[in-house]
Amino acid sequence: MSQEHRQKSGFETRAIHAGYEPDPTTGAVIPPIYATSTYKQDGVGGLRGGYEYSRSANPTRTALEGAIAALEEGERGFAFSSGLAAEDTLLRALCRPGDHAVIPDDAYGGTFRLFDKVAVPWGLTHSPAPVDDLDAVRAAIRPGVTKLVWIETPTNPMLSIGDIEALAAVAHEGGALLVVDNTFASPYLQQPLTLGADVVVHSTTKYVGGHSDVVGGALVVRDQEVAEKVGFHQNAMGAVPGPFDCFLTHRGIKTLAVRMDRHCDNAERVADFLTSHPKVGTVIYPGLETHPGHEVAQRQMKRFGGMISFRCTDGEAAALKVCERAEVFTLGESLGGVESLIEHPGRMTHASVAGTDLEVPADLVRLSVGIESVDDLIADLEQALD
Ligand SMILES: *Cc1c(COP(=O)(O)O)cnc(C)c1O
Repeated sequence: MSQEHRQKSGFETRAIHAGYEPDPTTGAVIPPIYATSTYKQDGVGGLRGGYEYSRSANPTRTALEGAIAALEEGERGFAFSSGLAAEDTLLRALCRPGDHAVIPDDAYGGTFRLFDKVAVPWGLTHSPAPVDDLDAVRAAIRPGVTKLVWIETPTNPMLSIGDIEALAAVAHEGGALLVVDNTFASPYLQQPLTLGADVVVHSTTKYVGGHSDVVGGALVVRDQEVAEKVGFHQNAMGAVPGPFDCFLTHRGIKTLAVRMDRHCDNAERVADFLTSHPKVGTVIYPGLETHPGHEVAQRQMKRFGGMISFRCTDGEAAALKVCERAEVFTLGESLGGVESLIEHPGRMTHASVAGTDLEVPADLVRLSVGIESVDDLIADLEQALD
C-alpha cells in the first residue's frame, strides 16, 4: 500500500499497515526484530537506509514510530524506553533552565514527580492548574516564561476533561506549546494534534501496548521544527527502546481499535452498575451525563475509555477492602491492559503526591476495566463491595 493511500485510510487500516512495507527480500509481513546494535557501511559514511547505530535508529523502532505517528496524524513519531523517558526528553528538548510549565493539578504521579523532583532542581518551574478550568490555566501562564502547557485528558485518577481545542488556543495566546498526555484515551479515542495540540505524549505501556508485557513511551509532534529538536534529543539522551520492546508495542497497536471498543463497552456497563450501588458514592466516568466534562468529552472523544474511578461511602478503609477483595480485578498499578486492574491511588500510583496540592481522596478506587466477560467483572465488584 502506498504512503499516500495510507494517509487517507481509516484508523484500523493505519493501525495494521502504517510504518512498514513487507520486507523486500523475504516478504515478511511483520517487521523483523532487528537485534543489532550496528550496521555495515558501504564505504565510509555509506549507510544503507540511513542506519548506522541502533541508538540513532533501528528498523524495528522505525516501523513502530511510523505507526504511532500515523495513528496520531502527526508529522513524526518517536519511541522511548518508557513514558517518563519520553517526557524527560521532551522537557529538555523544549525547555531551558529558567522556563516555566503549567501542569495538571491532578497529573499522573510520576509526571508530577518528574516535574517537581527532577526538573525543578534542573531549573524548570511549574504551576498546577485544573485542566477543566480555562481561566485558571490562562492565569497560570506567564507570558514569555511559560514554554509548555501540559495536560492530560482524561486525567489520572480524577478523569477530568480538558477542552483540547480551547486549551491549545489559550496556550498559543500565551506563547506556549500545548502538550497532551494521551495515554488514557489512546489515539483511537482522541487525536489531540488534529485539535490544535503541538505534542502528544504516550505511556505506550498502557493501551497502546495493551497487554501489560512491555514498558515504553512515545512522542508525536505535528511540526518539523519540534520534530528536529525531539529527534536530536532522542539520540543525544539515548532513552530508546530495544527492538524486542518495539516489536511488542507495535504488535499491540494492530488490535488497538478492537480492544478499545471492548474496553469502552465493558466500562460503560461497570459504570452503570457502580452508579446504583449503595456503598458507592460518586462514580467518575466521562461517559456519565453527571460528569462535569461529559459534553467536552463527547465532542473530542470517539467514546469514553476504560478507566473509572469511584469513591466509597464508608471511607478509606472500605476502599482498601474493595481493592483487596476483588479477584477478577487484579490488585495492581498500571492500566490499559486486556486484564482488569483495581488500585487505591492514594496509597499506590499517587503516593508520591501525598501532602501536595495534587493529593487524591483517600476513599477513591480506580479501575482499569479490561476486556474479560463483563458479567464476571460486575459480579466480582459486587462481591468485593458487599
Ligand atoms: C503510566 C503513565 C505515564 C508514565 O509512563 P511509564 O511508561 O510508566 O514511564 C505517564 N502518563 C500517564 C497518564 C500514565 O498513566
